[in-house]
Amino acid sequence: MATKYIFFTGGVVSSVGKGVTAAAMGRALKERGFSVAVQKLDPYINVDPGTMSPYQHGEVYVLDDGAETDLDLGHYERFIDVRLNRVCNITTGQVYAEVISKERRGDYLGGTIQVLPHITNEIKRRIAMVTKTTGAEIVLVEVGGTVGDIESLPFLEAIRQLRGDLGRENTFYIHVTWLPYIGATDELKTKPTQHSVRELRSIGISPDMIVARSDHPVDEGLREKIALFCDVERRAVVPMVTSQILYEIPLLIEQAGVADYLVQRLGLTPRSQPDWTDWKHLVDMVRQPKPTVTIALVGKYVELHDAYMSVREALKHAALKLGVELDIRWVHSAELEKGKGWDQVKAADGVLVPGGFGSRGIEGKIQAIQYARSEKVPFLGLCLGMQLMVVEFGRWVYGTDEVNSTEFDRSTLHPVIDLMPEQHGITDMGGTMRLGLYPCKLQPGSIAEACYGVEEVQERHRHRFEFNNAFRDEFYARGMRFSGLSPDGRLVEIAELVDHPFMLATQFHPEFLSRPNRPHPLFLGFIKAAAEKAGVI
Ligand code: GLN
Repeated sequence: MATKYIFFTGGVVSSVGKGVTAAAMGRALKERGFSVAVQKLDPYINVDPGTMSPYQHGEVYVLDDGAETDLDLGHYERFIDVRLNRVCNITTGQVYAEVISKERRGDYLGGTIQVLPHITNEIKRRIAMVTKTTGAEIVLVEVGGTVGDIESLPFLEAIRQLRGDLGRENTFYIHVTWLPYIGATDELKTKPTQHSVRELRSIGISPDMIVARSDHPVDEGLREKIALFCDVERRAVVPMVTSQILYEIPLLIEQAGVADYLVQRLGLTPRSQPDWTDWKHLVDMVRQPKPTVTIALVGKYVELHDAYMSVREALKHAALKLGVELDIRWVHSAELEKGKGWDQVKAADGVLVPGGFGSRGIEGKIQAIQYARSEKVPFLGLCLGMQLMVVEFGRWVYGTDEVNSTEFDRSTLHPVIDLMPEQHGITDMGGTMRLGLYPCKLQPGSIAEACYGVEEVQERHRHRFEFNNAFRDEFYARGMRFSGLSPDGRLVEIAELVDHPFMLATQFHPEFLSRPNRPHPLFLGFIKAAAEKAGVI
Protein backbone atom coordinates (compact mmCIF):
# COMPACT_ATOMS: atom_id res chain seq x y z
CA MET A 1 0.00 0.00 0.00
CA ALA A 2 1.04 3.63 -0.46
CA THR A 3 2.45 5.16 2.71
CA LYS A 4 -0.14 7.17 4.61
CA TYR A 5 0.84 10.47 6.21
CA ILE A 6 -0.85 12.13 9.15
CA PHE A 7 0.36 15.67 9.85
CA PHE A 8 -0.03 17.38 13.21
CA THR A 9 0.05 21.14 13.57
CA GLY A 10 -0.47 23.17 16.73
CA GLY A 11 -2.69 26.18 17.25
CA VAL A 12 -3.35 28.84 19.90
CA VAL A 13 -0.55 27.96 22.35
CA SER A 14 2.31 25.50 22.59
CA SER A 15 2.75 22.80 25.23
CA VAL A 16 -0.78 21.43 24.94
CA GLY A 17 0.39 17.88 24.40
CA LYS A 18 0.64 17.63 20.63
CA GLY A 19 3.42 15.06 20.96
CA VAL A 20 1.47 12.89 23.38
CA THR A 21 -1.62 13.13 21.16
CA ALA A 22 0.38 12.00 18.13
CA ALA A 23 1.98 9.20 20.15
CA ALA A 24 -1.40 7.99 21.44
CA MET A 25 -2.90 8.01 17.93
CA GLY A 26 0.14 6.11 16.69
CA ARG A 27 -0.54 3.47 19.31
CA ALA A 28 -4.20 3.21 18.33
CA LEU A 29 -3.16 2.67 14.70
CA LYS A 30 -0.54 0.09 15.68
CA GLU A 31 -3.27 -1.73 17.60
CA ARG A 32 -5.05 -2.15 14.26
CA GLY A 33 -2.10 -4.02 12.79
CA PHE A 34 -0.26 -1.24 10.96
CA SER A 35 3.42 -0.44 11.26
CA VAL A 36 3.76 3.12 12.48
CA ALA A 37 6.58 5.64 12.79
CA VAL A 38 6.54 9.21 14.03
CA GLN A 39 8.64 12.16 12.96
CA LYS A 40 9.07 15.53 14.66
CA LEU A 41 9.92 18.63 12.65
CA ASP A 42 11.54 21.19 14.93
CA PRO A 43 11.73 24.77 13.66
CA TYR A 44 14.81 25.87 15.63
CA ILE A 45 18.19 26.42 13.97
CA ASN A 46 20.24 24.16 16.23
CA VAL A 47 21.23 21.05 14.29
CA ASP A 48 19.90 18.99 17.19
CA PRO A 49 18.92 19.67 20.83
CA GLY A 50 22.19 18.06 22.02
CA THR A 51 23.83 21.42 22.60
CA MET A 52 20.79 23.05 24.23
CA SER A 53 20.32 23.62 27.93
CA PRO A 54 17.69 21.34 29.46
CA TYR A 55 16.15 24.53 30.85
CA GLN A 56 15.41 25.60 27.27
CA HIS A 57 14.33 22.34 25.92
CA GLY A 58 13.83 19.67 28.56
CA GLU A 59 15.50 16.31 28.23
CA VAL A 60 17.61 15.32 25.25
CA TYR A 61 16.28 11.94 24.17
CA VAL A 62 18.82 9.54 22.62
CA LEU A 63 17.97 6.93 19.98
CA ASP A 64 19.65 3.61 19.11
CA ASP A 65 21.68 5.22 16.33
CA GLY A 66 22.93 7.93 18.67
CA ALA A 67 20.69 10.74 17.43
CA GLU A 68 20.14 13.37 20.12
CA THR A 69 16.49 14.30 19.77
CA ASP A 70 13.48 16.12 21.15
CA LEU A 71 11.80 14.61 24.19
CA ASP A 72 8.64 13.97 22.16
CA LEU A 73 10.56 11.09 20.54
CA GLY A 74 10.49 9.52 24.00
CA HIS A 75 6.69 9.75 24.06
CA TYR A 76 6.51 8.18 20.61
CA GLU A 77 8.78 5.27 21.54
CA ARG A 78 7.11 4.63 24.89
CA PHE A 79 3.53 4.84 23.66
CA ILE A 80 3.95 2.99 20.39
CA ASP A 81 6.75 0.67 21.57
CA VAL A 82 8.90 1.26 18.48
CA ARG A 83 12.58 2.05 17.97
CA LEU A 84 12.97 5.20 15.90
CA ASN A 85 16.03 6.53 14.06
CA ARG A 86 17.70 9.85 13.36
CA VAL A 87 15.50 10.83 10.42
CA CYS A 88 12.60 10.93 12.86
CA ASN A 89 13.69 14.31 14.21
CA ILE A 90 14.46 17.06 11.70
CA THR A 91 15.43 20.61 12.57
CA THR A 92 15.68 23.74 10.47
CA GLY A 93 19.41 23.65 11.26
CA GLN A 94 19.82 20.20 9.68
CA VAL A 95 17.86 21.17 6.61
CA TYR A 96 19.85 24.34 5.99
CA ALA A 97 23.19 22.64 6.75
CA GLU A 98 22.42 20.04 4.08
CA VAL A 99 21.25 22.53 1.45
CA ILE A 100 24.20 24.86 2.07
CA SER A 101 26.73 22.04 1.87
CA LYS A 102 25.20 20.91 -1.44
CA GLU A 103 25.40 24.46 -2.70
CA ARG A 104 29.09 24.67 -1.74
CA ARG A 105 29.76 21.41 -3.56
CA GLY A 106 28.19 22.91 -6.67
CA ASP A 107 25.32 20.42 -6.76
CA TYR A 108 22.84 23.06 -7.85
CA LEU A 109 24.77 23.95 -11.01
CA GLY A 110 24.62 27.70 -10.73
CA GLY A 111 21.03 28.00 -9.55
CA THR A 112 19.83 30.53 -6.99
CA ILE A 113 19.11 28.66 -3.77
CA GLN A 114 15.81 29.61 -2.16
CA VAL A 115 13.44 28.51 0.57
CA LEU A 116 11.04 27.50 -2.17
CA PRO A 117 11.81 24.98 -3.61
CA HIS A 118 15.24 24.03 -2.20
CA ILE A 119 14.50 24.11 1.50
CA THR A 120 11.00 22.68 1.12
CA ASN A 121 12.32 19.91 -1.16
CA GLU A 122 14.93 18.98 1.41
CA ILE A 123 12.21 18.82 4.08
CA LYS A 124 10.09 16.59 1.84
CA ARG A 125 13.10 14.37 1.12
CA ARG A 126 13.60 13.90 4.84
CA ILE A 127 9.94 13.12 5.43
CA ALA A 128 10.15 10.42 2.74
CA MET A 129 13.22 8.94 4.49
CA VAL A 130 11.09 7.77 7.42
CA THR A 131 9.33 5.06 5.43
CA LYS A 132 12.51 4.21 3.58
CA THR A 133 14.44 3.59 6.81
CA THR A 134 11.71 2.14 9.06
CA GLY A 135 9.35 0.50 6.60
CA ALA A 136 6.42 2.17 8.35
CA GLU A 137 3.09 2.06 6.52
CA ILE A 138 1.72 5.05 8.41
CA VAL A 139 3.95 8.01 9.22
CA LEU A 140 2.79 10.58 11.74
CA VAL A 141 4.55 13.92 11.30
CA GLU A 142 4.41 16.50 14.07
CA VAL A 143 5.32 20.08 13.25
CA GLY A 144 6.81 21.74 16.33
CA GLY A 145 5.62 25.16 17.52
CA THR A 146 2.32 26.81 16.68
CA VAL A 147 0.85 28.03 13.42
CA GLY A 148 1.80 31.66 12.98
CA ASP A 149 5.43 31.22 14.02
CA ILE A 150 7.77 32.57 11.35
CA GLU A 151 10.14 29.65 11.85
CA SER A 152 7.69 26.91 11.01
CA LEU A 153 6.55 28.32 7.66
CA PRO A 154 8.85 26.20 5.43
CA PHE A 155 7.71 23.05 7.25
CA LEU A 156 4.06 23.96 6.82
CA GLU A 157 4.61 24.75 3.15
CA ALA A 158 6.32 21.37 2.67
CA ILE A 159 3.49 19.41 4.27
CA ARG A 160 0.96 21.47 2.30
CA GLN A 161 2.66 20.42 -0.95
CA LEU A 162 2.60 16.78 0.10
CA ARG A 163 -1.15 16.56 -0.30
CA GLY A 164 -0.70 17.45 -3.97
CA ASP A 165 2.32 15.16 -4.33
CA LEU A 166 0.86 12.11 -2.60
CA GLY A 167 -2.87 12.46 -3.03
CA ARG A 168 -5.77 13.31 -0.77
CA GLU A 169 -6.34 9.66 0.16
CA ASN A 170 -2.80 9.37 1.52
CA THR A 171 -2.62 12.55 3.61
CA PHE A 172 -4.51 13.78 6.64
CA TYR A 173 -4.09 17.01 8.60
CA ILE A 174 -4.80 17.26 12.32
CA HIS A 175 -4.77 20.62 14.08
CA VAL A 176 -4.32 20.46 17.88
CA THR A 177 -5.63 23.56 19.63
CA TRP A 178 -6.48 24.84 23.07
CA LEU A 179 -9.84 26.06 24.41
CA PRO A 180 -9.23 28.70 27.06
CA TYR A 181 -11.56 28.77 30.06
CA ILE A 182 -13.04 32.06 31.26
CA GLY A 183 -13.71 31.76 34.96
CA ALA A 184 -15.97 34.84 35.26
CA THR A 185 -18.53 33.42 32.85
CA ASP A 186 -17.66 29.78 33.39
CA GLU A 187 -17.21 29.00 29.72
CA LEU A 188 -14.75 27.65 27.21
CA LYS A 189 -13.85 29.83 24.23
CA THR A 190 -13.52 28.60 20.66
CA LYS A 191 -12.50 31.89 19.08
CA PRO A 192 -8.72 31.32 19.30
CA THR A 193 -9.25 27.94 17.61
CA GLN A 194 -11.21 29.60 14.81
CA HIS A 195 -8.44 32.15 14.34
CA SER A 196 -5.72 29.58 14.24
CA VAL A 197 -7.61 27.45 11.72
CA ARG A 198 -8.03 30.57 9.58
CA GLU A 199 -4.29 31.18 9.82
CA LEU A 200 -3.62 27.58 8.78
CA ARG A 201 -6.00 27.96 5.83
CA SER A 202 -4.22 31.11 4.74
CA ILE A 203 -1.14 28.97 4.15
CA GLY A 204 -3.20 26.50 2.19
CA ILE A 205 -3.81 23.74 4.75
CA SER A 206 -7.39 22.83 5.62
CA PRO A 207 -7.42 20.62 8.68
CA ASP A 208 -9.31 17.33 8.44
CA MET A 209 -9.56 16.99 12.20
CA ILE A 210 -9.43 19.34 15.17
CA VAL A 211 -8.23 18.05 18.52
CA ALA A 212 -9.58 20.55 21.05
CA ARG A 213 -7.51 20.35 24.22
CA SER A 214 -9.01 21.73 27.37
CA ASP A 215 -8.86 21.56 31.15
CA HIS A 216 -12.67 21.41 31.29
CA PRO A 217 -15.31 19.16 29.74
CA VAL A 218 -16.28 20.19 26.22
CA ASP A 219 -20.03 19.90 25.55
CA GLU A 220 -21.70 18.87 22.31
CA GLY A 221 -22.74 22.42 21.50
CA LEU A 222 -19.16 23.57 21.53
CA ARG A 223 -18.13 20.63 19.40
CA GLU A 224 -20.82 21.54 16.88
CA LYS A 225 -19.65 25.14 16.85
CA ILE A 226 -16.04 24.17 16.17
CA ALA A 227 -17.17 21.81 13.40
CA LEU A 228 -19.20 24.55 11.79
CA PHE A 229 -16.66 27.36 12.01
CA CYS A 230 -13.68 25.25 11.14
CA ASP A 231 -15.40 23.32 8.38
CA VAL A 232 -14.72 19.80 9.59
CA GLU A 233 -17.16 16.98 10.27
CA ARG A 234 -18.50 16.84 13.80
CA ARG A 235 -16.98 13.39 14.24
CA ALA A 236 -13.66 14.96 13.40
CA VAL A 237 -13.79 17.41 16.30
CA VAL A 238 -12.13 15.54 19.12
CA PRO A 239 -12.38 17.09 22.58
CA MET A 240 -9.42 16.02 24.72
CA VAL A 241 -9.78 17.00 28.35
CA THR A 242 -6.52 17.04 30.31
CA SER A 243 -5.93 13.70 32.01
CA GLN A 244 -3.92 13.28 35.18
CA ILE A 245 -2.93 9.85 33.94
CA LEU A 246 -0.58 10.02 30.97
CA TYR A 247 -1.11 6.42 29.88
CA GLU A 248 -4.87 6.92 29.80
CA ILE A 249 -4.59 9.08 26.69
CA PRO A 250 -4.44 6.22 24.15
CA LEU A 251 -7.61 4.84 25.79
CA LEU A 252 -9.31 8.24 25.50
CA ILE A 253 -8.27 8.46 21.86
CA GLU A 254 -9.75 5.00 21.31
CA GLN A 255 -13.01 5.90 23.05
CA ALA A 256 -13.30 9.03 20.95
CA GLY A 257 -13.26 6.82 17.84
CA VAL A 258 -10.28 8.67 16.37
CA ALA A 259 -8.44 5.65 15.00
CA ASP A 260 -11.54 4.21 13.31
CA TYR A 261 -12.14 7.57 11.68
CA LEU A 262 -8.51 7.85 10.51
CA VAL A 263 -8.48 4.33 9.12
CA GLN A 264 -11.70 5.02 7.23
CA ARG A 265 -10.56 8.37 5.85
CA LEU A 266 -7.24 6.93 4.73
CA GLY A 267 -9.02 4.08 2.96
CA LEU A 268 -7.47 1.38 5.13
CA THR A 269 -8.90 -1.88 6.44
CA PRO A 270 -7.85 -2.76 9.98
CA ARG A 271 -5.86 -5.98 10.17
CA SER A 272 -6.50 -6.69 13.82
CA GLN A 273 -8.81 -5.83 16.67
CA PRO A 274 -7.24 -3.41 19.13
CA ASP A 275 -6.25 -5.08 22.38
CA TRP A 276 -6.03 -2.55 25.19
CA THR A 277 -5.75 -5.06 28.05
CA ASP A 278 -2.25 -3.96 29.10
CA TRP A 279 -3.13 -0.28 28.97
CA LYS A 280 -6.34 -0.70 30.94
CA HIS A 281 -4.40 -2.65 33.51
CA LEU A 282 -1.82 0.14 33.73
CA VAL A 283 -4.50 2.78 34.27
CA ASP A 284 -6.27 0.60 36.85
CA MET A 285 -2.97 0.22 38.67
CA VAL A 286 -2.46 3.99 38.69
CA ARG A 287 -5.92 4.49 40.23
CA GLN A 288 -5.59 1.82 42.91
CA PRO A 289 -4.44 2.93 46.34
CA LYS A 290 -0.94 1.57 46.91
CA PRO A 291 1.75 1.79 49.58
CA THR A 292 4.19 4.62 48.88
CA VAL A 293 7.86 4.41 47.97
CA THR A 294 9.73 7.69 48.16
CA ILE A 295 12.61 8.40 45.82
CA ALA A 296 14.89 11.42 46.09
CA LEU A 297 15.93 12.52 42.61
CA VAL A 298 19.04 14.61 43.18
CA GLY A 299 19.73 16.70 40.12
CA LYS A 300 20.60 20.07 38.77
CA TYR A 301 17.58 20.96 36.65
CA VAL A 302 14.95 19.78 39.12
CA GLU A 303 12.77 22.92 38.78
CA LEU A 304 11.96 21.68 35.29
CA HIS A 305 10.70 18.13 35.59
CA ASP A 306 10.76 17.78 31.79
CA ALA A 307 14.55 17.76 32.02
CA TYR A 308 14.25 14.28 33.55
CA MET A 309 11.24 13.07 31.55
CA SER A 310 12.47 9.56 30.74
CA VAL A 311 13.91 8.99 34.22
CA ARG A 312 10.58 9.93 35.78
CA GLU A 313 8.67 7.69 33.37
CA ALA A 314 11.03 4.76 33.94
CA LEU A 315 10.56 5.13 37.71
CA LYS A 316 6.79 5.20 37.19
CA HIS A 317 6.85 2.07 35.01
CA ALA A 318 8.78 0.12 37.64
CA ALA A 319 6.61 1.36 40.52
CA LEU A 320 3.40 0.39 38.68
CA LYS A 321 4.72 -3.06 37.96
CA LEU A 322 5.54 -3.57 41.64
CA GLY A 323 2.22 -2.13 42.79
CA VAL A 324 3.65 0.81 44.73
CA GLU A 325 2.87 4.52 44.61
CA LEU A 326 5.83 6.60 43.58
CA ASP A 327 6.59 9.79 45.47
CA ILE A 328 9.46 11.62 43.79
CA ARG A 329 11.19 14.29 45.87
CA TRP A 330 12.97 16.64 43.52
CA VAL A 331 16.14 17.69 45.29
CA HIS A 332 18.41 20.44 44.01
CA SER A 333 21.98 19.25 44.48
CA ALA A 334 23.35 22.80 44.85
CA GLU A 335 20.97 23.27 47.81
CA LEU A 336 22.39 20.18 49.52
CA GLU A 337 25.78 21.89 49.45
CA LYS A 338 24.26 24.70 51.52
CA GLY A 339 22.83 22.19 53.97
CA LYS A 340 19.29 22.58 52.59
CA GLY A 341 16.96 19.85 51.30
CA TRP A 342 18.47 17.05 53.39
CA ASP A 343 15.09 16.30 54.98
CA GLN A 344 13.91 15.24 51.50
CA VAL A 345 16.91 12.96 51.00
CA LYS A 346 16.52 11.47 54.46
CA ALA A 347 12.80 10.87 53.91
CA ALA A 348 13.59 8.79 50.83
CA ASP A 349 13.66 5.01 50.48
CA GLY A 350 15.96 5.33 47.49
CA VAL A 351 18.29 7.94 46.02
CA LEU A 352 18.73 8.49 42.29
CA VAL A 353 21.39 10.68 40.68
CA PRO A 354 20.67 11.16 36.96
CA GLY A 355 22.88 12.33 34.10
CA GLY A 356 24.21 15.84 33.73
CA PHE A 357 26.96 18.15 32.55
CA GLY A 358 28.98 20.96 34.12
CA SER A 359 30.26 21.48 37.62
CA ARG A 360 27.36 23.23 39.36
CA GLY A 361 25.92 21.08 42.14
CA ILE A 362 28.44 18.25 41.74
CA GLU A 363 29.54 18.25 45.37
CA GLY A 364 25.90 18.10 46.53
CA LYS A 365 25.36 15.00 44.43
CA ILE A 366 28.52 13.43 45.88
CA GLN A 367 27.24 14.16 49.40
CA ALA A 368 23.90 12.50 48.58
CA ILE A 369 25.79 9.46 47.25
CA GLN A 370 27.93 9.31 50.36
CA TYR A 371 24.76 9.34 52.43
CA ALA A 372 23.23 6.51 50.36
CA ARG A 373 26.40 4.42 50.64
CA SER A 374 27.01 4.86 54.35
CA GLU A 375 23.34 4.60 55.37
CA LYS A 376 22.76 1.66 53.02
CA VAL A 377 19.94 3.40 51.19
CA PRO A 378 19.23 1.91 47.72
CA PHE A 379 20.95 3.96 45.05
CA LEU A 380 20.75 4.18 41.29
CA GLY A 381 23.22 6.33 39.37
CA LEU A 382 22.80 7.15 35.68
CA CYS A 383 25.75 8.28 33.56
CA LEU A 384 27.02 11.28 35.53
CA GLY A 385 25.41 9.55 38.54
CA MET A 386 27.69 6.56 37.93
CA GLN A 387 30.76 8.74 37.51
CA LEU A 388 30.02 10.49 40.80
CA MET A 389 29.43 7.19 42.59
CA VAL A 390 32.95 6.27 41.49
CA VAL A 391 34.33 9.63 42.68
CA GLU A 392 32.64 9.27 46.06
CA PHE A 393 33.94 5.73 46.42
CA GLY A 394 37.45 6.90 45.57
CA ARG A 395 37.30 9.63 48.18
CA TRP A 396 36.38 7.01 50.74
CA VAL A 397 39.11 4.61 49.57
CA TYR A 398 41.87 7.24 49.63
CA GLY A 399 40.48 9.25 52.51
CA THR A 400 40.85 12.51 50.59
CA ASP A 401 38.73 14.91 48.52
CA GLU A 402 41.53 14.98 45.96
CA VAL A 403 39.61 12.44 43.90
CA ASN A 404 37.56 13.67 40.99
CA SER A 405 36.47 13.41 37.39
CA THR A 406 38.71 15.43 35.10
CA GLU A 407 35.51 17.02 33.79
CA PHE A 408 35.43 19.02 37.04
CA ASP A 409 39.08 19.14 38.09
CA ARG A 410 41.66 18.70 35.36
CA SER A 411 44.58 18.38 37.73
CA THR A 412 43.01 16.19 40.38
CA LEU A 413 45.37 13.86 42.23
CA HIS A 414 43.22 10.79 41.52
CA PRO A 415 41.44 11.14 38.15
CA VAL A 416 39.06 8.21 38.63
CA ILE A 417 36.89 9.40 35.74
CA ASP A 418 38.73 10.67 32.70
CA LEU A 419 38.22 11.55 29.07
CA MET A 420 38.08 8.58 26.73
CA PRO A 421 41.24 8.44 24.59
CA GLU A 422 39.16 9.03 21.43
CA GLN A 423 37.66 12.17 22.98
CA HIS A 424 41.01 13.95 23.39
CA GLY A 425 41.42 16.83 20.97
CA ILE A 426 37.74 17.08 20.03
CA THR A 427 36.68 20.71 19.98
CA ASP A 428 33.23 20.52 18.35
CA MET A 429 30.51 20.24 20.97
CA GLY A 430 27.66 18.95 18.81
CA GLY A 431 27.21 15.21 18.22
CA THR A 432 30.74 14.27 19.29
CA MET A 433 30.07 12.26 22.44
CA ARG A 434 29.89 8.47 22.66
CA LEU A 435 26.31 8.20 21.51
CA GLY A 436 23.74 5.49 21.02
CA LEU A 437 23.55 1.74 21.42
CA TYR A 438 26.58 -0.25 22.60
CA PRO A 439 26.78 -3.80 23.91
CA CYS A 440 27.48 -4.55 27.57
CA LYS A 441 28.49 -7.94 28.97
CA LEU A 442 27.13 -8.69 32.43
CA GLN A 443 29.29 -10.37 35.05
CA PRO A 444 27.87 -13.63 36.42
CA GLY A 445 26.70 -13.43 40.00
CA SER A 446 26.30 -9.65 39.99
CA ILE A 447 23.21 -7.66 40.96
CA ALA A 448 23.08 -6.32 37.41
CA GLU A 449 22.97 -9.81 35.98
CA ALA A 450 20.31 -10.85 38.47
CA CYS A 451 18.18 -7.87 37.38
CA TYR A 452 18.53 -8.42 33.65
CA GLY A 453 18.56 -12.21 33.71
CA VAL A 454 20.67 -12.36 30.51
CA GLU A 455 24.39 -12.31 29.69
CA GLU A 456 24.57 -9.36 27.34
CA VAL A 457 22.49 -6.24 26.77
CA GLN A 458 22.53 -3.23 24.45
CA GLU A 459 21.98 0.18 25.99
CA ARG A 460 21.97 3.80 24.85
CA HIS A 461 24.84 6.12 25.72
CA ARG A 462 25.54 9.84 25.79
CA HIS A 463 28.81 10.77 27.47
CA ARG A 464 32.39 11.90 26.97
CA PHE A 465 34.03 10.67 30.17
CA GLU A 466 34.73 7.14 31.32
CA PHE A 467 35.90 5.08 34.30
CA ASN A 468 39.70 5.24 34.51
CA ASN A 469 40.96 1.65 34.39
CA ALA A 470 44.06 2.51 36.42
CA PHE A 471 41.78 2.33 39.47
CA ARG A 472 40.01 -0.93 38.73
CA ASP A 473 42.08 -3.33 40.84
CA GLU A 474 42.20 -1.14 43.89
CA PHE A 475 38.47 -0.39 43.80
CA TYR A 476 37.71 -4.06 43.28
CA ALA A 477 39.72 -4.94 46.37
CA ARG A 478 37.65 -2.45 48.37
CA GLY A 479 34.26 -3.78 47.26
CA MET A 480 33.32 -2.17 43.96
CA ARG A 481 32.28 -4.62 41.27
CA PHE A 482 32.40 -3.86 37.57
CA SER A 483 29.33 -5.84 36.73
CA GLY A 484 28.89 -4.59 33.19
CA LEU A 485 31.78 -4.21 30.73
CA SER A 486 32.11 -3.57 27.03
CA PRO A 487 32.66 -6.95 25.29
CA ASP A 488 36.41 -6.23 24.96
CA GLY A 489 36.51 -5.59 28.70
CA ARG A 490 37.93 -2.11 28.21
CA LEU A 491 35.02 0.10 29.29
CA VAL A 492 33.17 -0.01 32.59
CA GLU A 493 29.45 0.11 31.84
CA ILE A 494 28.02 -0.82 35.25
CA ALA A 495 29.51 -0.50 38.73
CA GLU A 496 27.98 -1.83 41.93
CA LEU A 497 28.99 -2.26 45.56
CA VAL A 498 29.12 -5.58 47.36
CA ASP A 499 28.61 -4.37 50.89
CA HIS A 500 25.27 -2.70 50.20
CA PRO A 501 21.68 -3.85 49.53
CA PHE A 502 21.49 -2.05 46.15
CA MET A 503 24.09 0.46 45.08
CA LEU A 504 24.38 0.29 41.33
CA ALA A 505 25.13 2.77 38.60
CA THR A 506 25.38 2.71 34.83
CA GLN A 507 27.50 4.63 32.35
CA PHE A 508 24.60 4.32 29.90
CA HIS A 509 21.04 5.62 30.12
CA PRO A 510 18.67 2.72 30.86
CA GLU A 511 15.75 5.17 31.17
CA PHE A 512 15.45 5.46 27.39
CA LEU A 513 14.48 1.82 26.95
CA SER A 514 11.85 1.52 29.66
CA ARG A 515 8.29 0.96 28.47
CA PRO A 516 5.02 1.40 30.41
CA ASN A 517 4.24 -2.30 30.29
CA ARG A 518 7.88 -3.45 30.19
CA PRO A 519 9.80 -1.60 32.89
CA HIS A 520 13.56 -1.53 32.63
CA PRO A 521 15.13 -4.34 34.74
CA LEU A 522 17.52 -2.00 36.58
CA PHE A 523 14.74 0.44 37.51
CA LEU A 524 12.71 -2.54 38.65
CA GLY A 525 15.62 -3.74 40.80
CA PHE A 526 16.08 -0.27 42.26
CA ILE A 527 12.40 0.32 43.13
CA LYS A 528 12.17 -3.20 44.54
CA ALA A 529 15.13 -2.53 46.83
CA ALA A 530 13.59 0.82 47.87
CA ALA A 531 10.20 -0.83 48.51
CA GLU A 532 11.92 -3.46 50.64
CA LYS A 533 13.65 -0.76 52.62
CA ALA A 534 10.29 0.97 53.09
CA GLY A 535 8.91 -2.38 54.24
CA VAL A 536 6.03 -2.30 51.76
CA ILE A 537 6.82 -5.45 49.76
N1 GLN B 1 29.18 14.81 31.80
C1 GLN B 1 29.39 13.40 31.78
C2 GLN B 1 30.12 12.95 30.51
O1 GLN B 1 30.13 13.66 29.53
C3 GLN B 1 28.10 12.65 31.95
C4 GLN B 1 27.15 12.78 30.81
C5 GLN B 1 25.74 12.37 31.15
O2 GLN B 1 25.37 12.24 32.31
N2 GLN B 1 24.92 12.19 30.14
O3 GLN B 1 30.68 11.90 30.46
